[in-house]
Amino acid sequence: MQEILDDIVATIGSSTERGRVADYIPELAGVNPQQFGICVATVDGQLFSAGHSQQLFSIQSISKVFSLTVALGKLGDGVWKWVGREPSGDPFNSIVQLEHEHGKPRNPFINAGAIAISDAILMKHLPREALAEILSFVRFIADDESICFDDKVAKSELETGERNRALAHFMAAYGIIKNPVDYVLGTYFHHCAIAMNCQQLARAGLFLAGDGRNPVTGVRVVSASRARRINSLMLMCGHYDGSGEFAFRVGLPGKSGVGGGILAIAPGHASIAVWSPGLDDVGNSKLGSQALERLVMKTGWSIFA
Ligand code: GLU
Repeated sequence: MQEILDDIVATIGSSTERGRVADYIPELAGVNPQQFGICVATVDGQLFSAGHSQQLFSIQSISKVFSLTVALGKLGDGVWKWVGREPSGDPFNSIVQLEHEHGKPRNPFINAGAIAISDAILMKHLPREALAEILSFVRFIADDESICFDDKVAKSELETGERNRALAHFMAAYGIIKNPVDYVLGTYFHHCAIAMNCQQLARAGLFLAGDGRNPVTGVRVVSASRARRINSLMLMCGHYDGSGEFAFRVGLPGKSGVGGGILAIAPGHASIAVWSPGLDDVGNSKLGSQALERLVMKTGWSIFA
């Protein structure tokens, strides 16, 4: 495995065609696009890393996997009153689809869906309480108390998030969102602003590779059927309107974020985190996707193998 990762860093990680770094907030626009990190946490407890695997980055939409898991823990199937379970085929921040579907987001991983999930988690609590719950869950699954929000990123998101604000008000008009919009967005923007490195992220995903149980600590996080369902949503909806292409090329459940990270799950084998800040046209890490394609080719971990 170490040889495979070293090869990926030497080939894909040094590519000159690196995509474009997200530039809607200065904290992301200023990230050096030359960085590339990867980490594989296997279900038998080994950790393999290469490149900038210890460099913190903004996990952004990858956090939507964790907020969904928290919401499922609190509400069970009640969560599906807030969001659907269908791929969107539209950009991650699309408003058009919401109007057609009467304010109910297609899935928990597009922006509208994750904003609705923040509403579900809030349930009349204050944003700081919901955020404490999400952060302590992430620390627990990663087994790492040092994981934190990047407050600067959260503040910039709040200042520039007019489109997300529009999505939230729109859903409030349809009665999907019931808490004050400011509370909901404060929760959403902050969980997107969690900073992690590839090693922490790979460890955090291990429960999804282990049928809901962290195979290293032995602690059950969710039931096996819930882990399978989260994985299936990641496969169908985890890469915005590039989800079909990612499933076609990589064949693993995965969730990307505009910070350039991707968390991919090889059920029964490993949890993989890769980070390269440059994005492709639909907002997924360009080299990250290529790296996962190569990793799967070498390991045979595609779920369709
Ligand atoms: N906080 C970002 C937004 O809502 C998340 C984008 C993403 O990673 O998809 O615009």
